[in-house]
Amino acid sequence: MTQRYDVIIVGGGPAGGTAAFFLGQAGKRVLLLEKESLPRYKTCGGAVSLRLLEQFPFSFEPVIQSRVHAISYAFKEKMVTIPLKDSELCMVMRDEFDAHLLKHARAEIRTGTAVHRVEEANRTVTVETADGQRFEADTLIAADGANSIVARSLNLRRGKTLAGAIEIEATVPEKILTRFAARPMLIFGELRLGYLWVFPKLDHVSVGIGGLNPKPGELQSVLERVMNRLEISIHGQPRTGHPLPIYSRREPISTARTLLVGDAAGLVDPFTGEGIRFAIKSGRLAAGAILAGHPEGYAASVNQRIGRNHRLGTLLTEIFYSMPGLSFKLSLRNPSVSELLAKMIDDRIVTAN
Ligand SMILES: Cc1cc2nc3c(=O)[nH]c(=O)nc-3n(C[C@H](O)[C@H](O)[C@H](O)COP(=O)(O)OP(=O)(O)OC[C@H]3O[C@@H](n4cnc5c(N)ncnc54)[C@H](O)[C@@H]3O)c2cc1C
Repeated sequence: MTQRYDVIIVGGGPAGGTAAFFLGQAGKRVLLLEKESLPRYKTCGGAVSLRLLEQFPFSFEPVIQSRVHAISYAFKEKMVTIPLKDSELCMVMRDEFDAHLLKHARAEIRTGTAVHRVEEANRTVTVETADGQRFEADTLIAADGANSIVARSLNLRRGKTLAGAIEIEATVPEKILTRFAARPMLIFGELRLGYLWVFPKLDHVSVGIGGLNPKPGELQSVLERVMNRLEISIHGQPRTGHPLPIYSRREPISTARTLLVGDAAGLVDPFTGEGIRFAIKSGRLAAGAILAGHPEGYAASVNQRIGRNHRLGTLLTEIFYSMPGLSFKLSLRNPSVSELLAKMIDDRIVTAN
């Protein structure tokens, strides 16, 4: 007989983990299906706002690799370091972070279980896994990331905007670790639409590059050139790529019984490229809409709480990248604008209630 749940969640990243946590806490019968075994590596810089994590009634301390007290912005050869007043950004490794969140969720979690297809009917949604198991629920949450099988299965998010990104967990000498300790660096002016980063972790630095519409091979060659300039040797170190589903417009992210969250809904900030914050926010909004008995209200709440922020992000992106040199001079070198940016990342700007 097919097993039935209140909610099935596909994907155990921050969006799925958050939804599982809040639904489980409220007593819902939840099944979470994750295709990998956990903990699993996830290509990600792992920069997260500590303030955002305060909504969970447990500590993330065991998985925080480092805390950030300043950010360096570089434009070509010029650089400015801005201290973050009251700002508490932290750095995590996503394998540990995601597993930690899931450990606290009161849900039945089946790992190594890839969802292959979903089907919606009047009163139920049915999920079929790659190995032929079938599960049913009242509601489905699709938290299966940028290449969401669920979205594809339901014909949602057909025209998505995907940026490309590459990440390397680089082993570096002590002097480089010290140079970047508590002080990540963002590097602009090397790509038409995108940037590079160096993020400090406990025993290495995560370095990467992300950009929209790069030329073939451009991300690789710019990454090598810039890291070479920073004396970070990436030669021979494993590199992984992953798409970044950039928010570009308001679009359907739900059906009668299915809610897309996080990257599956295309909620990466178009200006900063962050996605963890919006994965967690949308996961919580989805859980809230289900618990309120109004899943149909979910898309409107995402538009209000996230879409407005991202439409501002799109505008900032257009201004910044149309004259990056001038924007760098006028904005990132200006402490009040940098503080505003830090507030945005630290989740201290609420664009709508
Ligand atoms: C190079 C790079 C650097 C980044 N750096 C940052 C950063 O520093 N800060 C930040 O905030 N954001 C960053 N992001 C974005 C961030 O990683 C994502 O926005 C975030 O992971 C989205 O979370 P999610 O839960 O929606 O999806 P994911 O984290 O992608 O999780 C999806 C989960 O679903 C599982 N899954 C997929 N398909 C199936 C299936 N068919 N069946 C079952 N399970 C499935 C996957 O295995 C995965 O565990 C970065 C992204 C990239 C590519």
